[in-house]
Amino acid sequence: MGILIVDDSADDRLLLQSILSAAGYDHILVADSAADAFRLLGLDGDKRGAARIDLILMDMIMPEMNGIETCRQIKAVERFRDTPIMMVTVKTDPVDLQLAFAAGALDYIGKPINKIELLTRVRSVLRLVHEIDRRQAREQELLEVMRQLQEANQMLLRLSCLDGLTGITNRRQFDDFLDQEWRRAVRESTPLSLIMLDIDRFKSYNDAHGHTSGDECLRQVAAAISGAVNRPGDLVARYGGDEFVVVLPGTRTDGAAQVAETLRQRIQALGITHSDGKFITISVGFASIIPSRTASPTDLIKAADQALYQAKQEGRNRAKQAGILTLVPHSHED
Ligand code: GH3
Ligand code: MG
Repeated sequence: MGILIVDDSADDRLLLQSILSAAGYDHILVADSAADAFRLLGLDGDKRGAARIDLILMDMIMPEMNGIETCRQIKAVERFRDTPIMMVTVKTDPVDLQLAFAAGALDYIGKPINKIELLTRVRSVLRLVHEIDRRQAREQELLEVMRQLQEANQMLLRLSCLDGLTGITNRRQFDDFLDQEWRRAVRESTPLSLIMLDIDRFKSYNDAHGHTSGDECLRQVAAAISGAVNRPGDLVARYGGDEFVVVLPGTRTDGAAQVAETLRQRIQALGITHSDGKFITISVGFASIIPSRTASPTDLIKAADQALYQAKQEGRNRAKQAGILTLVPHSHED
């Protein structure tokens, strides 16, 4: 523990130093003036030589700058805000002591120095410093743990919304998103479109190339769909297995038809080959609706799913529009 003695009297410096040294305090610095103390504390602009100081014993009466002003200037520096300063003084005038406390002094001890009193006071102040240090270190540890927890929470939240294989939105998040967009569309009487698509004969691709190639194919398809759907409000998600969904808020049937056809072409253009040499393709079903309170998101999903089934039935690699929910009038602005 570092102790700095600031006193203009060589005798007093020596006395303080010898009592403290004899008691086992071996890191003691001495200064004979305020300027000397500032230099040792690195307050003269050169912080390099600044030693760690845990307690300052400050003579109150010194020529040039007195102990109270020296104390005030040290305390004004951020890194010494918590460093205890104990006044050592022959003056025990309450006004002077009040000034010393106002300047940031923690305690005082009268001159002539009483050895027992000095050691008792020093010990208790240093114990306090030690305790404060420990608490601060613990606080830092806790803050760090909290930061790590927050980071982990954010990561978990992200992961809970994403599909592990493809990295795009998962089914759970899709359900929430569709619900939310449905309610918004009801409030604002705006259209909502949903596209469902499924890879054609994917089982046979898996069988022929292996599950790992199948996974890679799913990743490529997911990336291609995400790349083709570019409006900020749109959402692409993996619905499950080899099935994907695209939510297109504010989009009518003709807009959805365009996106569906683009997706079909993009996937074929990836050029991923089946064992028979044919390219991987997708079948697409889409449905549009102006949501109302009498219908539900499930109706939209069912309609798109039926259209997808229809596309499969009609020979795959095609996009089909849902029949029952096509109540939305075509727009001509897209
Ligand atoms: P269809 O044209 O009728 O869609 O034929 P299909 O073979 O694609 O049939 P279906 O869509 O029912 O089969 C989906 C297949 O997708 C079944 C399974 O082997 C495969 N699959 C589902 N999830 C995964 C996955 O995470 N990784 C891989 N590699 N394959 C998957
Ligand atoms: Mg399939």
